[in-house]
Amino acid sequence: MSAKIIDGKAFSQTVRDAVARDVTTLKDKHGITPGLAVVIVGEDPASQVYVRNKVKQTAESGMNGFHFEMPATASEEDVLNKVRELNADDRVNGILVQLPLPKHMDEAKVIETIAPEKDVDGFHVINTGLLATGGNAMVPCTPLGCIMMLKDTLGDLSGMKAIVVGRSNIVGKPMAQLLLDENCTVTIAHSRTKDLAAEVKAADIVVAAVGRPEMIKGDWIKDGATVIDVGINRIPAPERGDGKSRLVGDVDYEGAAQHAGAITPVPGGVGPMTIACLLRNTVTATCRQNGIDCDT
Ligand code: NDP
Repeated sequence: MSAKIIDGKAFSQTVRDAVARDVTTLKDKHGITPGLAVVIVGEDPASQVYVRNKVKQTAESGMNGFHFEMPATASEEDVLNKVRELNADDRVNGILVQLPLPKHMDEAKVIETIAPEKDVDGFHVINTGLLATGGNAMVPCTPLGCIMMLKDTLGDLSGMKAIVVGRSNIVGKPMAQLLLDENCTVTIAHSRTKDLAAEVKAADIVVAAVGRPEMIKGDWIKDGATVIDVGINRIPAPERGDGKSRLVGDVDYEGAAQHAGAITPVPGGVGPMTIACLLRNTVTATCRQNGIDCDT
């Protein structure tokens, strides 16, 4: 069997096109331009790349982007004050504070200071609570992108057996909740799970969010299963030259593609969907804040 490749890059473009159309409608019909504020603290190189992409794609979608860089030496109070200022700014509909924050800051405190209706990352406890209880939550971008790809690939997920490997607050737990909301029977696996291979083998849907390169082996995958690989791991690639590296997921892609019905590649799978969903969440937040019924 050779798996269908789920093209996250192409799918994210359709999501971004829909966002751009909604932004045009919000401007033309309601005189509102959605605004997304991104705050980055310190000089973490990976975070700098993510933030540059977010800022670029915000502008491309027709939204207003507000970008704030703060030094790693900033105090927690400086960051909290910036968040409070953005909470009160009517031009800003979505606020994202890029994580991780420098060690001397309490991330939870910073996240809880963001107004829940502007929390486009969906990490505020109000939004996690709403997600858990079936309310109108802002849904974290990465799991939202995963569930959109699964529904696009499989249609109705009702009754399917799903496993989420990883139980972080930003990926694993909300992912499991979204699968439950789609009427899947959900297993959440983690570092203490016994016989992970057998658990994965039983699943029609496998979502891997572990952060360990190619940990999930091809022969663990049930024939015909759908595999969503959230992992982004950089490993040495001496075959490409001295000091070179390449990105791999948490799943052994080549092996899994022999068994899966469909699979996301790394890169080009979940990654591009995450930013597209951030833009989508900003439109959703704008609509909700203005009492407008939006399709996205
Ligand atoms: P965390 O480190 O917060 O969580 C990892 C999870 O994996 C934990 O729940 C941990 O279990 C579990 N785990 C670790 N080792 C094993 C093991 N041997 N067997 C089973 N489970 C294990 O990671 P994140 O959720 O933040 O991220 C996961 C991956 O997704 C990373 O590669 C990250 O880079 C990537 N990512 C990609 C994004 C994208 O846009 N594509 C966005 C966000 C993350 P335990 O709880 O028991 O410790």
